[in-house]
Amino acid sequence: MSQALPVTYVTVMDVRRITPRTARVTFTGDGLPDIMAERPDQQMKLCLPRAGQRVPVLPRQDADDTYGMRWYEAYLAIPEDERPWMRGFTVRSYDRARNAMAVDFVLHGDDGPAARWGSAARPGDVLGMVGPSAAYARPLPASDWLLLAGDETALPAMATLLEALPDGTRALAYVEVADAAEEQDLAPAAGSEVRWVHRDRGGSLLRAVRAARLPGDGAGAAWLAGEAGAVRELRRHLVEERQLPKEAVEFSGYWRRRLTQDDAPTEEDLAWARERAGGSGA
Ligand SMILES: Cc1cc2nc3c(=O)[nH]c(=O)nc-3n(C[C@H](O)[C@H](O)[C@H](O)COP(=O)(O)OP(=O)(O)OC[C@H]3O[C@@H](n4cnc5c(N)ncnc54)[C@H](O)[C@@H]3O)c2cc1C
Repeated sequence: MSQALPVTYVTVMDVRRITPRTARVTFTGDGLPDIMAERPDQQMKLCLPRAGQRVPVLPRQDADDTYGMRWYEAYLAIPEDERPWMRGFTVRSYDRARNAMAVDFVLHGDDGPAARWGSAARPGDVLGMVGPSAAYARPLPASDWLLLAGDETALPAMATLLEALPDGTRALAYVEVADAAEEQDLAPAAGSEVRWVHRDRGGSLLRAVRAARLPGDGAGAAWLAGEAGAVRELRRHLVEERQLPKEAVEFSGYWRRRLTQDDAPTEEDLAWARERAGGSGA
């Protein structure tokens, strides 16, 4: 069966600073109605133009892409000075009536093409998009209660997960942000609680989760995402100290300190990828 990832252009309709360091960019595009699904945590790659380009060059889409990876070969085949920057993002919401997809950009500084683009985005700007696809969905492990923990890059995913939980699910979410001005109004389902962790007050996800009373006694599960080192420590704490079964902890490194998304994986990243794929390693 073909698993070709959708590859399409999207155009900015609107940009709003929803917090001092978050730009909510709303896109539209002819391809969106067929691509967008109703599930939470839809992840995709955004393709950003290189200097001097108004519109990024997109990898060719191959209809007969049995393993879903031909788009990446096509991406690598684009000459390097024309090849778009490609970064992971999450659909914050999709309004089918308006054909409008919102994506939240964390404005972490000028040292990354995605953060730079997000801070200067204007209506009419065009990006490329690869995905989202159900093939990359990370369904929540089945459980009686749920712990979510992540930084601001994982906030869009956590917000959609919390909104989609059945009422009455006992969920506790820790969100680490720079300071109180970065908090957002979320609409978690009844039974869920959101706790903010502020870096300017010395807070960290690990410290907060270590001190937490977990939200239930039965079978628990956790969903973790954010800076890769922090996610690794959190997972280790939950598996080794809180005795959560490994398969009950869904985890993903969204960015790496001092490394860009173009940098090669480290030995630790590779060991971790094997672990996520169900192999051995810590
Ligand atoms: C599945 C997935 C979903 C994601 N969803 C979102 C999303 O919805 N919104 C979002 O904003 N991000 C999201 N991210 C994270 C985003 O892809 C990374 O933060 C990415 O590195 C940003 O690209 P950049 O071009 O700005 O920086 P890069 O060029 O990748 O990195 C440049 C420098 O900035 C540093 N850096 C990168 N991100 C941060 C950060 N958040 N805070 C501080 N320093 C940073 C790097 O360590 C590096 O030193 C997601 C990532 C994945 C894998």
